[in-house]
Amino acid sequence: MLKYKKYFLFDIDGTLGVDDILYEGSRELLGLIERIGGRSFFITNNSTKSRKDYVEKFKGWGLDTDEEQFMTASYAACMYLKKHYEGRKLFVVGTPSFEEELKSFGLLTVDRAQPDTACVVVGFDRTLDYRKIEEACRLLFRPEVDYVATNPDLRCPVSFGFIPDCGGICEMLRVTTGRTPCFAGKPDKGIVTLCMDQAEAEKDEVLVVGDRLYTDIACGMNAGVETALVYTGEAKPGDLEDTEYKPDYVYNTIEELYQELYRLHVRKGEGQG
Ligand SMILES: [Mg+2]
Repeated sequence: MLKYKKYFLFDIDGTLGVDDILYEGSRELLGLIERIGGRSFFITNNSTKSRKDYVEKFKGWGLDTDEEQFMTASYAACMYLKKHYEGRKLFVVGTPSFEEELKSFGLLTVDRAQPDTACVVVGFDRTLDYRKIEEACRLLFRPEVDYVATNPDLRCPVSFGFIPDCGGICEMLRVTTGRTPCFAGKPDKGIVTLCMDQAEAEKDEVLVVGDRLYTDIACGMNAGVETALVYTGEAKPGDLEDTEYKPDYVYNTIEELYQELYRLHVRKGEGQG
């Protein structure tokens, strides 16, 4: 039930804001969660930014956060790669920021296909060029080279529509090489598990909030926690009819979720006082 939720795991793009615009109600909602003794986490499949970049981005919105609140697909990928590929060479199709993040985990990155390259790692690469694509193909045609990607999202919402996301880049590589990666981000439950472990949260205290059925809602369902959908990003009301990913709660906007939580916690409290 909504009133027992303490840990709110928010998607960012299309849920709390789009591009540099913070949606109305996001600031109030994050403030209210703090006020009721809860904690917000931000689970994003956007792998163009590191956790540090996100703290800065939120600061630009006048929101104080710490790096531990951000569970990004790139962070989840780093955790996975650290476990399985420490000391081995990774060829990265990603932004300089993502590469820095990999290095900060002590991981070894190379910028050319080498005979002992162990794995191709793909992120949402807004610095993508043809050289990187060609090097990735060179490696992916060798079956012994593994393939990991941050997130399966095909497209990323921006103010004018969408641009290709990590999953879109991987689709191009799939039709070329026949290879599909292992994805670290949503809908894999790992990103929710990382938040829950950090907060020592119980499942019924957690709510995953997002705008996309096949990543956000699916990820909450995979982790066994309740989910809320907002219609300010990709999903539209008609999409709920034929999907296996049914959210527990649906709101037109994040502002509506804020209003409901406010009614449950604040106005109710005022009524009793
Ligand atoms: Mg989104």
